[in-house]
This record gives sequence, C-alpha cells and structure tokens, in this order.
Amino acid sequence: MDYITILQNHNLKVTPQRLEIVDILYRNGHINIDDLYKSLQNKFPSLSLATVYKNINTMCDKLFLSEVKIPHQKNVYELLKKEHAHVVCSKCNTIKDINLDTLSIINQAKELSHYDLNESSIVFNGICPNCLD
Ligand SMILES: [Zn+2]
Ligand SMILES: [Zn+2]
Repeated sequence: MDYITILQNHNLKVTPQRLEIVDILYRNGHINIDDLYKSLQNKFPSLSLATVYKNINTMCDKLFLSEVKIPHQKNVYELLKKEHAHVVCSKCNTIKDINLDTLSIINQAKELSHYDLNESSIVFNGICPNCLD
C-alpha cells in the first residue's frame, strides 16, 4: 500500500508520524487515541499526545479519517470508507465493520421522523464469535 500517495491525494503533508498513523490504522482497523499514542511512542518516543490529536483532527478535516462513537467506550478512528455499521464485543471490546445498508436505514428514519438526517452512527453490542466459544 502506497501511504505517501494516499496522504497526498487527501492534501495532507507527508510526515513520518502520519505515515506511521496510516500504517497503524491499516493494521488495526479501529483504534482509540490512547492506543494509537502508545503504538506511536515505539517509533517516536518524544511525540506528545497533543501532536497526535492535532494530526488526527487534521486528517479528519481532510476526510481521510473518521471518528466513530462507540457507546461506553472511547471514540475510535478509522480510515474513511463507505458508510457502514459497527459491531462491538462487550467482552473483548473488538470492533468490526459490517456492510449494513445504512442508507436505507437513514431513509427509513427520515420517513419516520420527518427530520432532515444526514449522518448515522449504528453500533450493535453483543458477543463476538471468539468470546462465544
Ligand atoms: Zn469478543
Ligand atoms: Zn468502521
């Protein structure tokens, strides 16, 4: 995966920290700021949490990352992709994407509420297959 081109395509300046953030996100899927900060410190011991926040905010502004709000948990970040829903394991906290048809759910919600809706955050809580065994 060519992370440099990906960053440039989003008008983001390429820095070693940002390349590492992209790599961590590709490997983890979803990550909260604390875990991201911990992972980054392996390579960049002098990096501050404030800098990580600043980078993440910029990357969200450029529609490269999106913030996912998970009930009872810290927000996580992921690479921006097609609208999707999330399943969260209440035992191990694993978060996974599911390609639910969120658009039709939003349309149903519009019909039922008569609100002008444009964003949804659909999260299901339960037990993942690993924890079920
Ligand atoms: Zn689990
Ligand atoms: Zn996701």
